[in-house]
Amino acid sequence: VVIVGAGFAGLEAARLLAGSPVEVLLLDRRNFHTFTPLLYQVATAGLEPDSIVKPVRSILRRAANVRFVMTEVVSVDLAARCLLTSAGPIAYDYLIVAAGSAVNYFGRESLSRLAMALKDIDDAIALRSHILSCFEQASLEEDAAERRRLMTVVVAGGGPTGVELAGAIHELKQHVLRRDFPALDVEAEARVILVEAADALLPGFPRALQESAARQLEGLGVAVRLNSPVSEANETGVLLQSGEVVPAATMIWVAGVIGTDLGGLPRHNPSRRVPVLPTLQVEEAPEVLVAGDLAYLEEGGRPLAMMAPVAIQQGRTAAANVLRLLGGNPPQPFRYKDRGVMATIGRTRAVAFLRPLRLSGLVAWLVWLGVHLFWLIGFRNKFLVLVDWAWNYLFYERGSRVIAGPARADTRLQTRKESDQAGR
Ligand SMILES: Cc1cc2nc3c(=O)[nH]c(=O)nc-3n(C[C@H](O)[C@H](O)[C@H](O)COP(=O)(O)OP(=O)(O)OC[C@H]3O[C@@H](n4cnc5c(N)ncnc54)[C@H](O)[C@@H]3O)c2cc1C
Repeated sequence: VVIVGAGFAGLEAARLLAGSPVEVLLLDRRNFHTFTPLLYQVATAGLEPDSIVKPVRSILRRAANVRFVMTEVVSVDLAARCLLTSAGPIAYDYLIVAAGSAVNYFGRESLSRLAMALKDIDDAIALRSHILSCFEQASLEEDAAERRRLMTVVVAGGGPTGVELAGAIHELKQHVLRRDFPALDVEAEARVILVEAADALLPGFPRALQESAARQLEGLGVAVRLNSPVSEANETGVLLQSGEVVPAATMIWVAGVIGTDLGGLPRHNPSRRVPVLPTLQVEEAPEVLVAGDLAYLEEGGRPLAMMAPVAIQQGRTAAANVLRLLGGNPPQPFRYKDRGVMATIGRTRAVAFLRPLRLSGLVAWLVWLGVHLFWLIGFRNKFLVLVDWAWNYLFYERGSRVIAGPARADTRLQTRKESDQAGR
């Protein structure tokens, strides 16, 4: 059994197959698993990158029948039952594809070139470095408008990631950067703007919680702009469809995802996910199963959300179905057990919809902390995260304020002075 992807779905499938009488080969282009729900805390200097990733080999050390190979899978040859990878062709009897999703820029070249993403650990480190570099530059800038632009962050996309990121950037600015840069008037000049195309934040949440999230964000000081689709970005800012230009040195695009690019698989348009039968099998190749963000499956007339719990449960079902097929038994259909959704907004602020419970504020925040700590992989990581959270909470600190990489390596960070020089 070959599994592509050691994310939430692939790892769960591998764990379920561990100890079964099958030979399992798990492939991933990275040698670690990433706990994506806490990426935004790495991006905002709240957690070290190491606390939210774990090497795949150490996770599966005790699984004697599971081997890991770090390789990039390029395409699947369904007819030949073979994968084309950067390590050469790999044949399979059964295949579980759990390669996740990618950022969807909806074909807008300026956004893909200039907006920052938050999809993996590299994005989180780059974003942290970028925001901190902007403040360093702002501290040297004499022109007030340019200083404001350097300290303005636009987050595009009002889903859970956008909401959590906007709240966390605001808190970084308010509690930490204000003290780090006493010469800057951070309170008056630094802005965090959350723009959302729809008329509400957090799609899928009950209306009351959507409104509560917007209120809590605004209470913090984040500017929430609903009904404000972004049309393009340029080196100096963000252009909204209304024609308004928002000068900003940082634009973060968290407004869309599509199925990851992997050749040879059928695709659903426009989501670019792989359509699967309720058993998670690909119709034209029943020995191939797809799980997680990449799988397109409708339940109740709507596609299942691209969320970690869906991926984990699908990983489990896909692996169990492979074992059923191997045993000559019919595969079982996937049924999502929806335990709810939640999003944190900042210190002691969150919303949680744990059917039928609707929570907001401190209680929701405590539930959010507990759930995330529970699902984070590895005792060391749980311990490190808990210590960092306690430290940050008690001392209003963010320990990981490191600008990584060569100084000013990010070409997206372009001050007006530099563009002037380039133009000369
Ligand atoms: C910033 C952020 C915050 C999120 N917050 C939440 C949250 O709070 N709650 C929630 O439920 N969900 C959240 N999600 C969504 C959640 O991360 C996804 O739904 C989940 O990761 C999907 O699991 P997966 O196994 O399908 O894909 P992933 O976990 O993305 O794993 C895919 C794996 O496949 C590997 N891969 C991809 N292509 C190839 C290839 N060609 N060759 C080899 N390997 C490949 C990748 O390296 C990766 O390890 C968040 C996502 C992001 C980006």
